Amino acid sequence: MKITFLGTGCMVPTKERNHPGIFVKQKTQGILLDCGENIQRQLKIAGIKNNKITKIFISHWHGDHSLGLPGLLNSMSRFEYNGTLEIYGPKGTKKFYEHMNKSFESTVDVEVKITEIEEGIAYEDDELKIIVLPLEHGVPTIGIRIEEKDRLRINNVKAKKLGLEEGPLMGQLQQGKDIVLKGKKIKHKDVTYIVEGIKIAYISDTVFCKNTLAIAKNVDLLIAESTFESSLEEKAEEYKHMTAQQAATVANKANVKQLVLTHFSQRYKDITVVLDDAKQVFDNTIAAKDFMKIKL
Ligand SMILES: [Zn+2]
Ligand SMILES: [Zn+2]
Repeated sequence: MKITFLGTGCMVPTKERNHPGIFVKQKTQGILLDCGENIQRQLKIAGIKNNKITKIFISHWHGDHSLGLPGLLNSMSRFEYNGTLEIYGPKGTKKFYEHMNKSFESTVDVEVKITEIEEGIAYEDDELKIIVLPLEHGVPTIGIRIEEKDRLRINNVKAKKLGLEEGPLMGQLQQGKDIVLKGKKIKHKDVTYIVEGIKIAYISDTVFCKNTLAIAKNVDLLIAESTFESSLEEKAEEYKHMTAQQAATVANKANVKQLVLTHFSQRYKDITVVLDDAKQVFDNTIAAKDFMKIKL
């Protein structure tokens, strides 16, 4: 899984930080998490082609998370986007999408499938599962969890001993099926081992609430908003955001491996104060930067 941060600011962009957007590339899917203004140029600079985007998740319809969508669709329409673009979002997504398309002269010439989802499995295939849960931000907002499924791998030493060679039988074992080789039954458990799938979670705008813990439980990487540092907790509460320490508390309680902070208020020219605030609670924390990449 490869994660590219396209925008790490919030409502007001700075010279260094664009409006929110994160691109998650998995084997078969390209998932854009939020679509802030100027996302197209950020994608270009990061070297990500529009055709690589298979799914867009809009965490909520505040402008900083969604204003890039009409422009992106416009370009996709002009330059022949292949396939169906799936757009997921909370309650109201269909209405917002319709209104958005009525606001411009240009028509969207891309096959788009809209899914409104508040809670549950948004998408699932043989390799991937995407789960959403509602967050608390004053407007319908979802947290997003992307899970690669566990896979079976062949233990080559054991396979060789049994005389197994590359081919359909190996494939069957990897699918968890037992096989018969030269009249002898081989159980998949005897020649395979489990490789745990990577799990990540994205907590966009919200206050600290029970679903922040649920969506982040045991993930390898938690990406969480931390608009303010703790001394501005009252402000965070007023605007329904989390402080860095609250994001770190989620990471701690949910037993995550690494925390990446994002969605920083424009007031922070130097992000150290926010990062240090989080590190007091959860040490394995980094602050995202635009165009930062993480490979898991
Ligand atoms: Zn925001
Ligand atoms: Zn918001």
